[in-house]
Amino acid sequence: MLSCEEAIKQLLEVTQPLGTESVALTNAIDRTLAETIHSDIDSPPFDKALMDGFAIVGQDLLADQDKSFSILGEIAAGQVADFEVASGTAARIMTGAPMPHGADSVVMIEKSTVEGDLVRITDPEFGVGQNVMKRAESLAYGQPVLTAPRRIRAMEVGLLAEVGRSTVNVISRPSVSTLATGSELVDASEKPSGGQIRNSNGPLLSAWCNQLGAEATSLGIAKDNQADLAEAIKRGLQSDVLLLSGGVSAGDYDLVPKTLGDCGVQKLFHKVSIKPGKPIWAGIYESGEHRCVVVGLPGNPVSTLVCFQVFVRPVLCKMMAAPLLESPRCSVTIDRDHRQRGDRPTYWPAKWHGTNKIDVELLPWLGSADLRTLIDADLLVLFPEGRSDFSAGESLPGMPFPA
Ligand code: AMP
Ligand code: MG
Repeated sequence: MLSCEEAIKQLLEVTQPLGTESVALTNAIDRTLAETIHSDIDSPPFDKALMDGFAIVGQDLLADQDKSFSILGEIAAGQVADFEVASGTAARIMTGAPMPHGADSVVMIEKSTVEGDLVRITDPEFGVGQNVMKRAESLAYGQPVLTAPRRIRAMEVGLLAEVGRSTVNVISRPSVSTLATGSELVDASEKPSGGQIRNSNGPLLSAWCNQLGAEATSLGIAKDNQADLAEAIKRGLQSDVLLLSGGVSAGDYDLVPKTLGDCGVQKLFHKVSIKPGKPIWAGIYESGEHRCVVVGLPGNPVSTLVCFQVFVRPVLCKMMAAPLLESPRCSVTIDRDHRQRGDRPTYWPAKWHGTNKIDVELLPWLGSADLRTLIDADLLVLFPEGRSDFSAGESLPGMPFPA
Protein backbone atom coordinates (compact mmCIF):
# COMPACT_ATOMS: atom_id res chain seq x y z
CA MET A 1 0.00 0.00 0.00
CA LEU A 2 1.12 3.56 -0.71
CA SER A 3 3.00 5.25 2.16
CA CYS A 4 1.87 8.61 3.59
CA GLU A 5 5.05 10.27 2.37
CA GLU A 6 4.55 9.00 -1.18
CA ALA A 7 0.88 10.06 -1.13
CA ILE A 8 1.76 13.60 0.04
CA LYS A 9 4.47 13.80 -2.62
CA GLN A 10 2.02 12.81 -5.36
CA LEU A 11 -0.52 15.36 -4.16
CA LEU A 12 2.06 18.15 -4.02
CA GLU A 13 3.28 17.29 -7.52
CA VAL A 14 -0.13 18.18 -8.97
CA THR A 15 -0.59 21.23 -6.69
CA GLN A 16 0.44 24.61 -8.07
CA PRO A 17 0.89 27.86 -6.19
CA LEU A 18 -1.99 30.21 -6.95
CA GLY A 19 -1.68 33.65 -8.51
CA THR A 20 -1.81 36.96 -6.71
CA GLU A 21 -4.42 39.65 -6.24
CA SER A 22 -4.55 43.19 -4.94
CA VAL A 23 -6.52 43.76 -1.73
CA ALA A 24 -7.29 46.82 0.34
CA LEU A 25 -5.02 47.16 3.34
CA THR A 26 -8.06 46.76 5.61
CA ASN A 27 -8.54 43.24 4.21
CA ALA A 28 -4.88 42.20 4.20
CA ILE A 29 -4.70 40.67 7.68
CA ASP A 30 -3.59 37.00 7.68
CA ARG A 31 -2.95 37.02 3.93
CA THR A 32 0.42 36.14 2.39
CA LEU A 33 2.36 39.08 0.98
CA ALA A 34 3.28 38.57 -2.69
CA GLU A 35 5.52 41.59 -3.40
CA THR A 36 8.56 43.33 -2.00
CA ILE A 37 7.55 46.55 -0.28
CA HIS A 38 9.86 49.59 -0.45
CA SER A 39 9.49 52.64 1.71
CA ASP A 40 8.34 55.77 -0.12
CA ILE A 41 9.51 58.01 2.74
CA ASP A 42 12.18 58.46 5.36
CA SER A 43 10.79 57.54 8.76
CA PRO A 44 10.74 59.62 10.73
CA PRO A 45 10.60 62.15 7.88
CA PHE A 46 12.38 64.78 10.06
CA ASP A 47 14.47 64.85 13.24
CA LYS A 48 11.74 64.36 15.80
CA ALA A 49 11.30 65.16 19.49
CA LEU A 50 10.50 62.08 21.56
CA MET A 51 9.55 63.98 24.73
CA ASP A 52 7.66 67.07 25.79
CA GLY A 53 10.31 69.53 26.97
CA PHE A 54 12.92 71.96 25.62
CA ALA A 55 14.98 71.70 22.45
CA ILE A 56 18.49 73.04 22.97
CA VAL A 57 22.02 73.01 21.59
CA GLY A 58 23.48 69.99 23.40
CA GLN A 59 26.97 71.45 23.85
CA ASP A 60 25.48 74.17 26.11
CA LEU A 61 24.33 71.72 28.74
CA LEU A 62 27.32 69.43 28.38
CA ALA A 63 29.52 72.28 29.55
CA ASP A 64 27.26 73.22 32.46
CA GLN A 65 24.50 70.88 33.60
CA ASP A 66 22.61 73.51 35.55
CA LYS A 67 21.97 76.43 33.24
CA SER A 68 19.31 78.96 32.16
CA PHE A 69 18.14 79.46 28.55
CA SER A 70 15.93 82.10 27.00
CA ILE A 71 12.77 80.63 25.48
CA LEU A 72 12.31 81.54 21.80
CA GLY A 73 8.90 80.02 21.17
CA GLU A 74 6.88 76.84 21.00
CA ILE A 75 6.67 73.97 18.46
CA ALA A 76 3.71 71.60 18.59
CA ALA A 77 3.40 68.29 16.66
CA GLY A 78 2.54 69.12 13.04
CA GLN A 79 4.25 72.56 13.12
CA VAL A 80 7.58 73.62 11.67
CA ALA A 81 9.55 76.26 13.63
CA ASP A 82 10.22 79.56 11.84
CA PHE A 83 13.13 80.34 14.13
CA GLU A 84 16.56 78.88 14.82
CA VAL A 85 17.86 77.77 18.22
CA ALA A 86 21.30 79.17 18.92
CA SER A 87 23.59 78.64 21.91
CA GLY A 88 21.93 79.87 25.12
CA THR A 89 18.40 79.65 23.72
CA ALA A 90 15.72 76.96 23.86
CA ALA A 91 12.39 76.11 22.19
CA ARG A 92 9.44 74.66 24.04
CA ILE A 93 8.74 71.43 22.08
CA MET A 94 6.06 68.72 22.14
CA THR A 95 6.43 64.98 21.47
CA GLY A 96 6.35 64.31 17.73
CA ALA A 97 7.26 67.85 16.68
CA PRO A 98 10.13 68.48 14.20
CA MET A 99 13.33 69.74 15.83
CA PRO A 100 14.07 73.40 15.10
CA HIS A 101 17.25 74.26 13.21
CA GLY A 102 20.24 74.52 15.49
CA ALA A 103 18.90 72.27 18.27
CA ASP A 104 20.04 68.64 18.57
CA SER A 105 18.77 67.51 21.98
CA VAL A 106 15.58 67.58 24.06
CA VAL A 107 15.47 67.91 27.84
CA MET A 108 12.27 66.59 29.34
CA ILE A 109 9.93 69.06 30.95
CA GLU A 110 10.33 67.40 34.35
CA LYS A 111 13.95 68.63 34.45
CA SER A 112 13.09 72.28 33.87
CA THR A 113 11.76 75.29 35.82
CA VAL A 114 10.28 78.19 33.88
CA GLU A 115 10.66 81.74 35.19
CA GLY A 116 9.13 84.20 32.72
CA ASP A 117 11.04 84.04 29.41
CA LEU A 118 13.77 81.92 30.96
CA VAL A 119 13.99 78.21 31.59
CA ARG A 120 16.42 76.74 34.06
CA ILE A 121 17.50 73.19 33.20
CA THR A 122 19.17 70.78 35.62
CA ASP A 123 20.01 67.40 34.08
CA PRO A 124 23.10 65.64 35.47
CA GLU A 125 22.56 62.66 33.15
CA PHE A 126 22.35 64.76 30.02
CA GLY A 127 23.81 63.45 26.74
CA VAL A 128 23.97 65.24 23.38
CA GLY A 129 21.25 63.97 20.99
CA GLN A 130 19.01 62.64 23.73
CA ASN A 131 15.27 62.31 23.19
CA VAL A 132 15.61 62.95 19.46
CA MET A 133 14.95 60.40 16.72
CA LYS A 134 16.97 61.30 13.64
CA ARG A 135 15.42 61.50 10.21
CA ALA A 136 15.34 58.01 8.53
CA GLU A 137 16.57 56.35 11.71
CA SER A 138 13.72 53.80 11.57
CA LEU A 139 13.67 53.35 7.80
CA ALA A 140 15.03 55.14 4.76
CA TYR A 141 13.43 56.10 1.45
CA GLY A 142 13.71 53.25 -1.08
CA GLN A 143 14.66 50.68 1.52
CA PRO A 144 12.96 47.26 1.21
CA VAL A 145 10.90 46.87 4.38
CA LEU A 146 8.94 43.64 3.72
CA THR A 147 9.79 40.77 1.42
CA ALA A 148 7.50 38.02 0.09
CA PRO A 149 6.26 35.51 1.04
CA ARG A 150 5.31 36.62 4.50
CA ARG A 151 2.17 36.43 6.58
CA ILE A 152 0.59 39.83 7.14
CA ARG A 153 -0.14 40.46 10.82
CA ALA A 154 -1.32 43.64 12.53
CA MET A 155 2.24 45.07 12.69
CA GLU A 156 2.76 44.48 8.96
CA VAL A 157 -0.56 46.27 8.28
CA GLY A 158 0.68 49.24 10.32
CA LEU A 159 4.03 49.31 8.56
CA LEU A 160 2.38 49.09 5.13
CA ALA A 161 0.30 52.13 6.05
CA GLU A 162 3.44 53.94 7.27
CA VAL A 163 5.10 53.46 3.87
CA GLY A 164 2.06 54.68 1.99
CA ARG A 165 0.27 51.51 0.92
CA SER A 166 -3.50 51.43 0.89
CA THR A 167 -3.58 48.30 -1.30
CA VAL A 168 -1.18 45.37 -1.38
CA ASN A 169 -0.57 42.30 -3.56
CA VAL A 170 -1.22 39.03 -1.78
CA ILE A 171 -1.42 35.36 -2.76
CA SER A 172 -4.96 34.44 -3.80
CA ARG A 173 -6.99 32.32 -1.43
CA PRO A 174 -7.69 28.80 -2.70
CA SER A 175 -11.40 28.20 -3.25
CA VAL A 176 -12.38 24.94 -1.60
CA SER A 177 -15.72 23.16 -2.06
CA THR A 178 -16.70 20.73 0.65
CA LEU A 179 -19.22 17.95 0.00
CA ALA A 180 -20.44 15.47 2.59
CA THR A 181 -21.70 12.23 1.04
CA GLY A 182 -23.97 9.66 2.65
CA SER A 183 -27.70 8.88 2.53
CA GLU A 184 -27.72 8.70 6.33
CA LEU A 185 -26.65 12.34 6.76
CA VAL A 186 -28.82 15.26 7.82
CA ASP A 187 -27.86 18.87 8.38
CA ALA A 188 -26.83 20.08 11.86
CA SER A 189 -30.11 22.02 12.07
CA GLU A 190 -32.11 18.78 11.92
CA LYS A 191 -32.84 16.11 14.53
CA PRO A 192 -31.68 12.73 13.18
CA SER A 193 -34.23 9.91 13.12
CA GLY A 194 -34.33 6.28 11.95
CA GLY A 195 -30.69 5.50 11.08
CA GLN A 196 -29.70 9.08 10.39
CA ILE A 197 -26.74 11.01 11.81
CA ARG A 198 -25.77 14.66 11.54
CA ASN A 199 -23.19 15.85 9.03
CA SER A 200 -20.27 16.91 11.20
CA ASN A 201 -17.54 16.56 8.56
CA GLY A 202 -18.83 19.27 6.24
CA PRO A 203 -18.72 22.08 8.83
CA LEU A 204 -15.42 20.75 10.26
CA LEU A 205 -13.72 20.83 6.86
CA SER A 206 -15.08 24.23 5.86
CA ALA A 207 -14.07 25.75 9.19
CA TRP A 208 -10.54 24.37 9.03
CA CYS A 209 -10.05 25.52 5.43
CA ASN A 210 -11.15 29.03 6.38
CA GLN A 211 -8.87 29.01 9.42
CA LEU A 212 -5.89 28.19 7.20
CA GLY A 213 -6.73 31.07 4.85
CA ALA A 214 -8.65 29.27 2.12
CA GLU A 215 -12.19 30.23 1.12
CA ALA A 216 -14.59 27.36 1.71
CA THR A 217 -17.99 26.86 0.10
CA SER A 218 -20.24 24.12 1.41
CA LEU A 219 -22.01 22.02 -1.22
CA GLY A 220 -24.09 20.44 1.52
CA ILE A 221 -24.93 16.75 1.49
CA ALA A 222 -25.15 14.35 -1.47
CA LYS A 223 -27.01 11.05 -1.16
CA ASP A 224 -25.32 7.78 -2.06
CA ASN A 225 -26.52 7.69 -5.66
CA GLN A 226 -24.52 8.58 -8.72
CA ALA A 227 -26.91 11.21 -10.05
CA ASP A 228 -26.88 13.22 -6.81
CA LEU A 229 -23.13 12.83 -6.41
CA ALA A 230 -22.31 13.76 -10.00
CA GLU A 231 -24.42 16.89 -9.85
CA ALA A 232 -22.64 18.16 -6.72
CA ILE A 233 -19.19 17.03 -7.88
CA LYS A 234 -19.52 18.98 -11.15
CA ARG A 235 -20.14 22.15 -9.17
CA GLY A 236 -17.25 21.40 -6.83
CA LEU A 237 -14.80 20.86 -9.68
CA GLN A 238 -15.00 24.59 -10.48
CA SER A 239 -13.00 25.27 -7.28
CA ASP A 240 -9.27 24.97 -6.75
CA VAL A 241 -9.86 22.10 -4.32
CA LEU A 242 -12.80 19.72 -3.89
CA LEU A 243 -12.98 17.87 -0.59
CA LEU A 244 -15.49 15.07 -0.22
CA SER A 245 -16.14 13.01 2.84
CA GLY A 246 -17.51 9.49 2.92
CA GLY A 247 -18.19 6.94 0.21
CA VAL A 248 -14.59 5.96 -0.56
CA SER A 249 -14.49 2.57 1.20
CA ALA A 250 -15.42 -0.87 -0.10
CA GLY A 251 -19.18 -0.87 0.61
CA ASP A 252 -21.84 -1.30 -2.06
CA TYR A 253 -22.81 2.37 -1.69
CA ASP A 254 -19.29 3.78 -1.75
CA LEU A 255 -19.78 5.40 -5.13
CA VAL A 256 -17.43 8.38 -4.84
CA PRO A 257 -14.38 6.99 -6.71
CA LYS A 258 -16.44 5.75 -9.66
CA THR A 259 -18.48 8.96 -9.89
CA LEU A 260 -15.37 11.14 -9.71
CA GLY A 261 -13.86 9.07 -12.54
CA ASP A 262 -17.05 9.49 -14.59
CA CYS A 263 -16.83 13.25 -14.02
CA GLY A 264 -13.35 13.33 -15.55
CA VAL A 265 -11.19 13.32 -12.41
CA GLN A 266 -7.95 11.38 -12.95
CA LYS A 267 -7.08 9.15 -10.02
CA LEU A 268 -3.75 9.68 -8.28
CA PHE A 269 -4.18 7.07 -5.59
CA HIS A 270 -6.77 5.13 -3.61
CA LYS A 271 -5.85 3.77 -0.15
CA VAL A 272 -2.84 4.85 1.87
CA SER A 273 -1.06 3.07 4.69
CA ILE A 274 -2.38 5.20 7.55
CA LYS A 275 -4.68 4.71 10.52
CA PRO A 276 -7.25 6.11 10.68
CA GLY A 277 -7.94 7.04 7.06
CA LYS A 278 -6.82 4.10 4.92
CA PRO A 279 -9.56 4.41 2.22
CA ILE A 280 -8.56 7.98 1.22
CA TRP A 281 -8.85 8.72 -2.52
CA ALA A 282 -7.12 11.53 -4.44
CA GLY A 283 -7.16 12.80 -7.99
CA ILE A 284 -6.72 15.79 -10.26
CA TYR A 285 -9.24 17.40 -12.60
CA GLU A 286 -8.04 19.50 -15.52
CA SER A 287 -10.13 21.52 -17.93
CA GLY A 288 -8.23 24.01 -20.10
CA GLU A 289 -6.27 26.24 -17.72
CA HIS A 290 -8.32 25.22 -14.69
CA ARG A 291 -7.11 22.56 -12.26
CA CYS A 292 -8.88 21.15 -9.24
CA VAL A 293 -7.21 18.92 -6.66
CA VAL A 294 -9.77 16.38 -5.46
CA VAL A 295 -9.53 14.49 -2.18
CA GLY A 296 -12.10 11.94 -1.06
CA LEU A 297 -11.74 11.64 2.71
CA PRO A 298 -13.05 8.60 4.59
CA GLY A 299 -16.37 9.40 6.32
CA ASN A 300 -15.58 8.65 9.93
CA PRO A 301 -15.08 12.09 11.47
CA VAL A 302 -11.64 11.44 12.94
CA SER A 303 -10.46 9.81 9.69
CA THR A 304 -11.55 12.94 7.87
CA LEU A 305 -9.78 15.12 10.44
CA VAL A 306 -6.51 13.16 10.43
CA CYS A 307 -6.42 12.93 6.63
CA PHE A 308 -7.07 16.66 6.37
CA GLN A 309 -4.16 17.40 8.69
CA VAL A 310 -1.79 14.96 6.98
CA PHE A 311 -2.71 15.33 3.29
CA VAL A 312 -4.88 18.39 2.64
CA ARG A 313 -3.13 20.97 4.80
CA PRO A 314 0.14 20.72 2.81
CA VAL A 315 -1.84 21.14 -0.43
CA LEU A 316 -3.50 24.36 0.76
CA CYS A 317 -0.20 25.65 2.10
CA LYS A 318 1.55 25.04 -1.20
CA MET A 319 -1.25 26.84 -3.07
CA MET A 320 -0.89 29.81 -0.71
CA ALA A 321 2.93 29.74 -0.70
CA ALA A 322 2.63 29.64 3.07
CA PRO A 323 5.35 27.26 4.22
CA LEU A 324 5.00 28.42 7.81
CA LEU A 325 1.44 27.14 7.96
CA GLU A 326 2.43 23.67 6.82
CA SER A 327 1.74 20.94 9.34
CA PRO A 328 4.65 21.34 11.73
CA ARG A 329 6.34 18.28 13.21
CA CYS A 330 7.79 18.08 16.68
CA SER A 331 9.16 15.44 19.01
CA VAL A 332 7.08 14.45 22.04
CA THR A 333 7.32 12.09 25.01
CA ILE A 334 4.34 9.83 25.76
CA ASP A 335 3.02 9.40 29.31
CA ARG A 336 1.97 5.76 29.21
CA ASP A 337 2.57 2.41 27.51
CA HIS A 338 0.73 1.94 24.26
CA ARG A 339 -0.07 -1.19 22.27
CA GLN A 340 -1.45 -1.42 18.74
CA ARG A 341 -1.56 -3.78 15.77
CA GLY A 342 1.32 -2.04 14.10
CA ASP A 343 0.49 -2.80 10.47
CA ARG A 344 0.02 0.88 9.58
CA PRO A 345 1.43 4.17 10.92
CA THR A 346 -1.15 5.36 13.44
CA TYR A 347 -2.06 8.90 14.45
CA TRP A 348 -3.35 9.05 18.02
CA PRO A 349 -4.89 12.14 19.66
CA ALA A 350 -3.01 13.57 22.62
CA LYS A 351 -2.88 16.68 24.74
CA TRP A 352 0.03 18.64 26.18
CA HIS A 353 0.96 17.64 29.68
CA GLY A 354 2.29 20.70 31.48
CA THR A 355 3.75 23.56 29.52
CA ASN A 356 6.99 22.27 27.97
CA LYS A 357 5.34 21.25 24.64
CA ILE A 358 7.24 17.95 24.89
CA ASP A 359 5.34 15.81 27.40
CA VAL A 360 1.99 14.58 26.16
CA GLU A 361 -0.91 12.63 27.55
CA LEU A 362 -2.40 10.03 25.17
CA LEU A 363 -6.16 10.46 25.20
CA PRO A 364 -8.56 7.57 25.89
CA TRP A 365 -9.72 7.54 22.29
CA LEU A 366 -12.39 5.11 21.10
CA GLY A 367 -11.48 5.16 17.41
CA SER A 368 -12.31 6.97 14.21
CA ALA A 369 -15.98 7.59 15.01
CA ASP A 370 -15.11 9.23 18.36
CA LEU A 371 -14.89 12.93 17.54
CA ARG A 372 -15.82 13.90 21.11
CA THR A 373 -12.38 12.94 22.47
CA LEU A 374 -10.65 15.17 19.90
CA ILE A 375 -12.08 18.20 21.67
CA ASP A 376 -9.36 17.63 24.29
CA ALA A 377 -6.59 17.12 21.71
CA ASP A 378 -3.75 19.56 21.01
CA LEU A 379 -1.90 17.30 18.61
CA LEU A 380 -1.65 13.90 16.97
CA VAL A 381 1.11 11.49 18.02
CA LEU A 382 2.49 9.24 15.27
CA PHE A 383 3.12 5.59 16.16
CA PRO A 384 5.21 4.27 13.28
CA GLU A 385 4.34 0.99 11.59
CA GLY A 386 6.20 -2.26 12.24
CA ARG A 387 5.99 -2.13 16.03
CA SER A 388 3.15 -2.93 18.38
CA ASP A 389 4.53 -2.01 21.81
CA PHE A 390 5.54 1.47 22.91
CA SER A 391 6.66 2.41 26.42
CA ALA A 392 5.91 5.38 28.63
CA GLY A 393 8.73 7.94 28.27
CA GLU A 394 9.42 7.12 24.62
CA SER A 395 10.01 9.92 22.12
CA LEU A 396 7.74 9.97 19.07
CA PRO A 397 6.83 12.40 16.29
CA GLY A 398 3.95 14.78 17.05
CA MET A 399 1.85 16.95 14.77
CA PRO A 400 0.21 19.90 16.58
CA PHE A 401 -3.12 21.27 15.40
CA PRO A 402 -3.19 24.93 14.43
CA ALA A 403 -3.73 27.01 17.58
P1 AMP B 1 -18.15 6.02 4.85
O1 AMP B 1 -16.77 6.51 4.68
O2 AMP B 1 -19.13 6.67 3.93
O3 AMP B 1 -18.20 4.52 4.78
O4 AMP B 1 -18.62 6.41 6.31
C1 AMP B 1 -17.96 5.88 7.44
C2 AMP B 1 -18.67 6.28 8.70
O5 AMP B 1 -18.63 7.68 8.85
C3 AMP B 1 -20.15 5.93 8.70
O6 AMP B 1 -20.50 5.53 10.03
C4 AMP B 1 -20.82 7.22 8.36
O7 AMP B 1 -22.14 7.30 8.84
C5 AMP B 1 -19.91 8.25 8.99
N1 AMP B 1 -19.98 9.50 8.27
C6 AMP B 1 -19.89 9.64 6.93
N2 AMP B 1 -19.97 10.92 6.58
C7 AMP B 1 -20.12 11.63 7.70
C8 AMP B 1 -20.27 13.01 7.99
N3 AMP B 1 -20.29 13.92 7.02
N4 AMP B 1 -20.40 13.40 9.28
C9 AMP B 1 -20.39 12.47 10.25
N5 AMP B 1 -20.24 11.15 10.06
C10 AMP B 1 -20.12 10.72 8.80
MG1 MG C 1 -21.07 6.39 3.38
